Amino acid sequence: MAPRPHWIFGDQLGPHFLDPRHGGPDAKAPVVMIEARSALRRRRFHRAKAHLVLSAMRHRAAELGDRVTYVRAETYAEGLERAVGLRAPRRPGGAGAEDAGRAERSGADARLTVCHPTSRPALAFVNGLDGVEVLPAKGFLVPRDDFEAWAGHSGGRSLRMEGFYRWVRGRHDLLMDGDEPAGGTWNLDHDNREPPPRGHDTLDVRGPWQPREDSIDEEVRRDLDRWERDGDVSFVGRDGPRRFPVTRREALSALRHFTTHRLPDFGRYEDAMLAADPVMSHSLLSVPLNLGLLDPAECVERAEQAWRAGDAPLNSVEGFVRQIAGWREYVWQLYWHFGEDYRTRNALRHTTPLPDWFLDLDADAVTANCLSTVLAQVRDTGWTHHIPRLMVLGSRALQDGWDPAAVTDWFHRCFVDGYDWVMLPNVVGMSQYADGGLMTTKPYTSGGAYIHRMSDLCGPCAYRPTDRTGDHACPYTTGYWAFMDRHRTLLSANHRTARAVKGLDRLKDLPELLETARRRGASPP
Ligand code: FAD
Ligand code: SF4
Repeated sequence: MAPRPHWIFGDQLGPHFLDPRHGGPDAKAPVVMIEARSALRRRRFHRAKAHLVLSAMRHRAAELGDRVTYVRAETYAEGLERAVGLRAPRRPGGAGAEDAGRAERSGADARLTVCHPTSRPALAFVNGLDGVEVLPAKGFLVPRDDFEAWAGHSGGRSLRMEGFYRWVRGRHDLLMDGDEPAGGTWNLDHDNREPPPRGHDTLDVRGPWQPREDSIDEEVRRDLDRWERDGDVSFVGRDGPRRFPVTRREALSALRHFTTHRLPDFGRYEDAMLAADPVMSHSLLSVPLNLGLLDPAECVERAEQAWRAGDAPLNSVEGFVRQIAGWREYVWQLYWHFGEDYRTRNALRHTTPLPDWFLDLDADAVTANCLSTVLAQVRDTGWTHHIPRLMVLGSRALQDGWDPAAVTDWFHRCFVDGYDWVMLPNVVGMSQYADGGLMTTKPYTSGGAYIHRMSDLCGPCAYRPTDRTGDHACPYTTGYWAFMDRHRTLLSANHRTARAVKGLDRLKDLPELLETARRRGASPP
């Protein structure tokens, strides 16, 4: 029997998505790829993100040569009809259809295969098609059913990351010595939270891997220019020189470069921020991982090899393994586990619309040095590391009571590594506490003191991290207390925040502080 064609999405670009083993597509299956313009029209994405996805897809198509049918279409439905004559959709998609995908429909009469897509809307779409077999997800360490079994066995205890991470380590024999964690401890976070080295503008480590652009990048840039000129699509941000891998070969080079030159320093300053060194020792691997160019297993295995060879210290390697085998896997599983209505959760009833200066990445309109610096990084590159995302951008949104669904959409559009599955738990749960504590034990926000301790951003700022009132009051400090005051009842019932709420009662200048916060309102801080 001739192999059935296999459709790959734009985030399924690595060789493992075409590997016939482990429930993959037919051996030597012809490949279908669809570049759907409607996906770009739907939202105002960062231009660098549009560039990366299109460049990666077109590079993959060039590698696959005659094996691929590459269709540029308005929609996926049109693309499928043109590529394989398949009409879509005959059955309505929707919440029920998603779950059908988990059971993997019988493939006996399927004319086309596709690996489990990474978003609920895409899964509902493929499940709504006749003649398509949905194969198991690839690109993650833990199958969805195994996670659900683990969650079931947790006996109703909350599904915290730490327990999940230890289970993954043991199950995959990752950084383990027999049944024990390597080095005798599971968690080296206390070694990985140092403030930046004082008196240094940058970390003394080799810079990140950098790609060289080629004719495919040029073609993508020309297309984006034309579509923008024609008013067909609209972007935010700047599309400067490409910084991230778009091919398997580039992704492997970036991984090798990171594990050889940068991993040893990854841990220590993982949470620190330096204005002139936004990347510090971070890996910049989220883009190739989320495009499907790298498999998480090979990333953590290489890191472990570096430790076993004595080339990187345990705190850095454990910190990196924790990010990928812990956080990334956990977030992927929670996306499916929490269900469709997770995206509309709003436990704190925050409804303020995002201000225009934030939507437009207008860093120059902002006085607060931390926010202006980070917003400029997003504008220029579509990337910042996890602490600016959580403690500068997310914290601003939380303190000011912005609508969490709009905040999620903003992160999704503006970050080069943003996809539905990774955004929802990270933003709705982790950053905006809109799930009321399903994912985290407390809201993540802080006053200026934390940013001051963990960065060099406060020194040149027009505000002072310690000031709560007056012209120099730090918007993070006033915002923090105003947030605590607004949610006093809820937060005093949480043992992790109850003490902070008590601190409110000791603030003699609380009325003045709240007035300062109110007066500033939606103006850029
Ligand atoms: P490193 O610091 O080098 O970490 C290594 C890898 O760990 C990353 O490449 C990533 O694959 C993985 N990782 C670590 N934490 C997470 C996490 N919480 N969720 C998923 N993967 C994780 N990550 C994304 O991939 N896409 C997003 O859209 C995204 N949005 C975020 C939004 C907020 C509000 C927050 C707090 C975090 C978000 N993250 C997201 C997680 C994290 O910030 C990025 O993965 C990381 O900054 C990417 O840079 P890096 O590759 O240098 O990461
Ligand atoms: Fe940010 Fe406040 Fe520090 Fe200024 S003083 S950089 S606003 S934390």
